[in-house]
Amino acid sequence: MTTPGLVLREVKFRESDRMLTILTPQGVVSASAKGSLRLKSKLFSACGLFCYSDFTLYEGRDGVYSVDEAQVRRVFFELRSRVEALALGMYLAELAATLHPTGEEAAGMLRLLLNTLHLMCEGKKDLYQLRAVAELRGLAIAGYMPDVVMCAGCGRYEGGGFYLDIATGALWCQECAEKNGNTPNLDAAALSALRHILLADDKKIFSFSLAPASLRRLCWASQMQVLQVLERPPKTLEFLNSVLPYEDIK
Ligand SMILES: [Zn+2]
Repeated sequence: MTTPGLVLREVKFRESDRMLTILTPQGVVSASAKGSLRLKSKLFSACGLFCYSDFTLYEGRDGVYSVDEAQVRRVFFELRSRVEALALGMYLAELAATLHPTGEEAAGMLRLLLNTLHLMCEGKKDLYQLRAVAELRGLAIAGYMPDVVMCAGCGRYEGGGFYLDIATGALWCQECAEKNGNTPNLDAAALSALRHILLADDKKIFSFSLAPASLRRLCWASQMQVLQVLERPPKTLEFLNSVLPYEDIK
């Protein structure tokens, strides 16, 4: 098959071969790219991490694909010029591979990731904001979506702080939260951003701005949501948090 795809992971094996994890609009596939680490290989430049390429893949007997041809569409090489951006890119790639979307979900995840990487390379948007959008929207695409429309207790949808129960995905207004012994963890702006990220059209999800205190709450909620959904923390999370800790948003 021939398909566009984004390389989420590359692992070197033998002398000059790579095993790739590729996100395509149909799903996540593993494919070996034999000889692709040789400088003279026609696969060399199209099979690296964060390469978005057109791949011609053959399915082997063991269900693993091999890359026959690959043509670069875009390489997000600017990510490598900033360690925070590189760390975030690797984390988002791992997140997408772990969520392992299929069908429609895979196409949505690929669009989300391409848009996020593009904005990261452009360098105009805050990386914390991009991170929260990619995490929350990525989880939503994969089917994990908190119910953020109104209070699960009384139906109220605005006014005061709100408490997002990470474990159940339910939202509680301040009054109902306090009745249950919980303290609000989202202010009005953070909740409004959360709703925007989950409910807006693809093209608009990145368009909002938040004061630092609200952004910190949003980033906290977003990371807790990731940890809640995944069985174990992503391997790349510790490094990401060492260079881009949400506690530092001031
Ligand atoms: Zn309530």
